[in-house]
Amino acid sequence: MVAPLPNPIARVALDTPLDSLFDYLAPEATADDIGRRVEVPFGHRRQVGVLLELVDRSDLPAAALKPLGPIDRTTPPLPEEVLHLARFAAGYYHHPLGSVLAGLLPPALRRAESSRRTPPPTAWRLTEEGQSALAQLPARATAKRALAERLTQGPLAHADASDRERPLLRDWLAKGWVVVLAPEDGPADLPSVPGPALNAQQQAVLDAFRAGPAGFAPWLLHGVTGSGKTEIYLNLVADALTQGRQALVLVPEIHLTPQLTERFARRFPGRRLIGLHSGLNDGERRAAWLDALAGRADIVLGTRLAVFTPLPRLGLIVVDEEHDGAYKQMEGMRYSARDVAVWRGRQRDVPVLLGSATPSLESWRNAKAGRYRLLSLTRRANAQARLPRVDLVDSRTDRPKLGLSQRLVEALTERLERAEQSLVFINRRGYAPTLLCNGCGHVFPCPRCSAHLILHRHSGGYRLLCHHCGLTARPPDACPQCGGLDLRAAGQGTQRVEETLVERFPEARILRIDRDTAGRKGAFAAMREQVEARQVDILVGTQIVAKGHDFPHLTLVGVIGADQALISPDFRATERLFAQLMQVAGRAGRAERPGEVLIQTGYPGHPLYQALARHDYPGFADATLKERRGADAPPFVSQALLRVDAGSEEAALGFLLAAREAGTSLDPGVLLFDPVPALLARVANRHRYQLLLQCPARARLRAFLSAWMTRLAALPARGLRWSLDVDPVDY
Ligand code: ADP
Ligand code: ZN
Repeated sequence: MVAPLPNPIARVALDTPLDSLFDYLAPEATADDIGRRVEVPFGHRRQVGVLLELVDRSDLPAAALKPLGPIDRTTPPLPEEVLHLARFAAGYYHHPLGSVLAGLLPPALRRAESSRRTPPPTAWRLTEEGQSALAQLPARATAKRALAERLTQGPLAHADASDRERPLLRDWLAKGWVVVLAPEDGPADLPSVPGPALNAQQQAVLDAFRAGPAGFAPWLLHGVTGSGKTEIYLNLVADALTQGRQALVLVPEIHLTPQLTERFARRFPGRRLIGLHSGLNDGERRAAWLDALAGRADIVLGTRLAVFTPLPRLGLIVVDEEHDGAYKQMEGMRYSARDVAVWRGRQRDVPVLLGSATPSLESWRNAKAGRYRLLSLTRRANAQARLPRVDLVDSRTDRPKLGLSQRLVEALTERLERAEQSLVFINRRGYAPTLLCNGCGHVFPCPRCSAHLILHRHSGGYRLLCHHCGLTARPPDACPQCGGLDLRAAGQGTQRVEETLVERFPEARILRIDRDTAGRKGAFAAMREQVEARQVDILVGTQIVAKGHDFPHLTLVGVIGADQALISPDFRATERLFAQLMQVAGRAGRAERPGEVLIQTGYPGHPLYQALARHDYPGFADATLKERRGADAPPFVSQALLRVDAGSEEAALGFLLAAREAGTSLDPGVLLFDPVPALLARVANRHRYQLLLQCPARARLRAFLSAWMTRLAALPARGLRWSLDVDPVDY
């Protein structure tokens, strides 16, 4: 027994830019309160923090200490493993611990006086009465039937019911057709539903995994699109559940969660599955998070923020589409959820499986170097489905008219005749990327950013819109430069391609899916349903449609405007382009009918396109890694980027010069480049500069950064904002 402290002082982590703990008098606190949320007076406000330590003395004079506010003992404390993970992330990314902890709490638990309202139902279960009543629904009640169908598969998480379905569920609750699964209900002991018999490759992958270490091991599953990676995840999750463990499954996109959640729910009807993503409202997120914390949830499926979910019985981590840029948080603590997942696996001694058709070069190299165990699926799982045929359409000879080559138009016509679906992929939203004066060549810059304004079409006509700061303007009637009246839209955006297709194929049903049409909650899901119900002939879309969706009737993908990425100054642009085109090509021919992919390009001989046409990810990856090695670029070196933005260029540059000076004597093994303007040098009238650091050894860079950050904190920084990005992916 440890003797009680005479006058305990609580050390609390608070969400402030200061990287320190704050001391409060806490006569009532005990060791059991460590990890609990507490309310404290801070400045003129009250804040919620996390109690991390109890000590018997403070460096502050006793008179300066304020008493601790209420300790929340109604929810379990954050377990040591999560505190440990948070400390690790704070240390690696050089971010204040209090801010890391605040970021991993659901917003509802972050606020002072966190409401004690009863949380919404977590899940719904069909009663026997409901089962017979709902079986008699008339055929035309499609929405109700669809919902009933999902419920017969097993409990439906409230978070996974759409806004339209929730009132129905409440209505059925009143009729006794469904019941609410209270959090304290244990999962019903329903057996998992068997999946399809695995093919030989899948079985080999599963056997290899099962023969591997029971504890921590990082695995990379490289499987072509449609090769049955998800089936592997389902089998491994089943293994973990059988052992009484929890599984954490990460997906890059919120849009991907409903489809996948449904697949998991169907397979494991008796298990508690929770979805965690930013689309949930505060109450739902809190309920889901608390389920995980209490060990009630068996499977947590979520986007990057879910990587920090407390999981007392964790047994497996899966990161699907591990290459995806969405795993990188771009503000606040700039962490990579994929990397955090690997650390967490190590810390918890559980296996981590990273899966992708186009692994990141970091992971590919780790696999090649033997640090990750490589598993491969080289064929599509469905015996009838083949990888699509990829053809390059030479836009120098088949010159596109308004974006569309003759070859693509013919292919689209064929699909319409055969009642199959097509996708025209162009990764640029809006009408046209620029408005151009045909007289003098003037284009219209954003007055606040170093970028062109994008032409958008609205109900009433056209608008110019800045994609960086949101500025909108009416297009002028005459060129401000030469007075000329011949102003033209130059280039293609999704809206313009849609317009061209509507004119070209007046009888076709055309649907545009980009951030402007699919941004609203639920809009994307509704569009996907339309496509699945074959109410759409031609889809026009950006990368939103490229990722992981299964559209069985889609047999043609046309790619427009991809060449742009080949000339990007960002050295990762080709890696991203390859992944994106592989993904989008993977949408074609998922079922019996063969798929065709047409890529319009002015450089059909480019090695990237050639590798793509061969479906040769390893070839592309190995060649690109060789280039990176020659250029001393990641993943052969570790990097960090110090970014700053300020009202003037002088202020931004001045700070970075001082920062560079502060770092020069620290470690000659760390290379500090000259400060340069960011690729996007000005946004909303803030000037953005950056300083790149690089070192072959990660640990050495990390030690350097720790020492350097202390010095940076002491530099004058009035009127500017700076942040450190460890392992940056955009520049
Ligand atoms: P991926 O995750 O690699 O894209 P999926 O696991 O989604 O692949 O599988 C692609 C399609 O093939 C899905 O429709 C899935 O149901 C089906 N499938 C997967 N494995 C098998 C199998 N062993 N036998 C038959 N169909 C399978
Ligand atoms: Zn702007």
